[in-house]
Amino acid sequence: NDNGGAKAASGYLQIQDVVKDFGGGAVAVNHVSIDIAQGEIFALLGSSGCGKTTLLRMLAGFETPTSGRIVLNGQDLAGMPPYERPINMMFQSYALFPHLTVWDNIAFGLRRDGMPRDEVAQRVDAMLKLVQLGKYGKRKPHQLSGGQQQRVALARSLAKRPKLLLLDEPLGALDKKLREETQIELVNIIEEVGVTCVMVTHDQEEAMTMASRIAIMSEGKVLQVGAPADVYETPATRFVADFIGNVNLMEGTLSEDHPDHVVISCKDCSHLVGHGITGTEGMTVSVAVRPEKIGLGPDEPPGPHNRARGTIKDLSYFGSFTVYHLQLDSGAVLKISQSNVERHRDVELTWGDTAWASWSPSSQVVLTQ
Ligand code: ATP
Repeated sequence: NDNGGAKAASGYLQIQDVVKDFGGGAVAVNHVSIDIAQGEIFALLGSSGCGKTTLLRMLAGFETPTSGRIVLNGQDLAGMPPYERPINMMFQSYALFPHLTVWDNIAFGLRRDGMPRDEVAQRVDAMLKLVQLGKYGKRKPHQLSGGQQQRVALARSLAKRPKLLLLDEPLGALDKKLREETQIELVNIIEEVGVTCVMVTHDQEEAMTMASRIAIMSEGKVLQVGAPADVYETPATRFVADFIGNVNLMEGTLSEDHPDHVVISCKDCSHLVGHGITGTEGMTVSVAVRPEKIGLGPDEPPGPHNRARGTIKDLSYFGSFTVYHLQLDSGAVLKISQSNVERHRDVELTWGDTAWASWSPSSQVVLTQ
């Protein structure tokens, strides 16, 4: 094995040009390369069938890559069976043994490995403390809430001190409120232990809440890798813009290419001015603007660019913010969210009112793919 090159690269976990082709058409994982740092919580995010689970299963050793390499802490994992890998995988159905106590559930893997009794006891007690279930060791899984069961499953996964923790849709079995609480608890525990973690999810909020970085996958490929704020603020493609959070996507044509800006003509709104892109005149682009970056008011905004007039067709009050649907003269609908934190507008906008939307060029992203 030539591990020399691997050691020179920076990632603690390196996924190098990995392909998984099951045959019969589409390639499940198509030339994926990702570097993951030690201690990172990294999310593979994408809709059903994008290949995220297959990639996770290759990390665990349940699937063999068709080509490419997976290197963990300088060691090429090729040919190493799952049970020999310093990796633990926690599944969606966290499958605790129902007839064993919480304590015995956590001890199970350690005993199977032949760890001395004292050490097992020490390790299990420490794990129970870590997941704040110190008093629950004697209970059976069915005597715990869903969130508590989840924490036991995590304690069991961490008991052997894996170098890499894999989470497959970790909170899929929990209802929304509990899921949100548990997301934060899991992150706190994972960070306290310092274990490197790769999780798979189709839930963008879960990825945004839990992960330090996210890879957005579609059709076996990684479209973008970045911190939650990066992928939200500067999506690389239309797909990513649409997949992460809410967005208004407007089609346009690049009509003028100036040294410091471009002008985009758009059928839904005024001309748009854009910065930081270059292109050829006549090319089709999409302009992505987040709902909360659009201002809304009854008066015509100053300046001829980056604005649109319409009629308020719908508004939904969400407590801290209100979402307006502004139907433009072109027929397109803009989603606009306005904060209610400081709500001292002179004019309340309501259903049927004519209103103006406007935004600054720096709050939009011009996409060419
Ligand atoms: P989900 O969230 O539904 O699990 P996913 O994003 O995790 O989806 P994968 O399960 O990785 O996607 O599947 C990716 C593609 O590979 C799919 O088209 C799937 O049908 C195919 N696939 C997965 N496992 C196998 C297999 N063992 N044999 C053949 N094709 C497979």
